[in-house]
Amino acid sequence: MSDIEIKKNLQSIHQRIKQACEQSGRNPKEVSLLLATKTVPIEKIQVAIDAGETLLGENKIQEALSKQAGLQHDSSLNWHFIGHLQTNKVKDVLKFATCIQSVDRMKLANKLDERLRQEGRSIDILVQVNTSYEESKFGIKPEEAIPFIQEVSKLDTLRVKGLMTIGLFTDDKHKVRKCFRLLKDIQTKVKEMNIPNVEMGVLSMGMSGDLEIAIDEGATMIRVGTAVFGKRIYSDSYYWNENSTIQ
Ligand SMILES: *Cc1c(COP(=O)(O)O)cnc(C)c1O
Repeated sequence: MSDIEIKKNLQSIHQRIKQACEQSGRNPKEVSLLLATKTVPIEKIQVAIDAGETLLGENKIQEALSKQAGLQHDSSLNWHFIGHLQTNKVKDVLKFATCIQSVDRMKLANKLDERLRQEGRSIDILVQVNTSYEESKFGIKPEEAIPFIQEVSKLDTLRVKGLMTIGLFTDDKHKVRKCFRLLKDIQTKVKEMNIPNVEMGVLSMGMSGDLEIAIDEGATMIRVGTAVFGKRIYSDSYYWNENSTIQ
């Protein structure tokens, strides 16, 4: 992908967001764009930053740390962690992330809390929900999401800001929509419960192929990689599935 192509792709993504919002009667300002930058070299990420993008998401900690060190930027840059987080990586993720979108189990929440207490600070998180019920995907089961959020809310170092999901990969738009609607339903229910220390403003859902459906179902953040930076060389299972052997 040349630099010019990346800039053009960014423009067309913003155009897609705008159009999707118009069709759904929403304000484009309600939807932020996170660039999923896994496997993308820093020179290419730099092009997007220079074009004004400030929200980046990484799936692997080492990759994120080395990229962060190599990029030129002002303090407006925000790094979210969007990959599967192992409990032994908690200390490292806190070195760069301003939000962890993939909190999906109590063991992880407790480890984060323990470390954050030591550091005397707190962090924004999203709860990742496995709305597609696929074995290969991480995230808490939809029916366990509310009790989980109630438990997490007791840890005051974790500021729950909303929910994240990855929609089903299929051409069947109806099935994709079902995933996003399920996330929205959980958001609505949690909002009604008024749980202390829990905000539900963020719905992180929708990617290159399904962002229009996600926006129509209420996404406030879409995560886009391929449509801006082109196809990745590694299979996504490397990033999404712990058992993957690809290195
Ligand atoms: C890679 C990735 C994306 C972006 O996917 P594209 O289809 O390349 O837009 C979004 N969310 C997560 C969690 C990812 O790992």
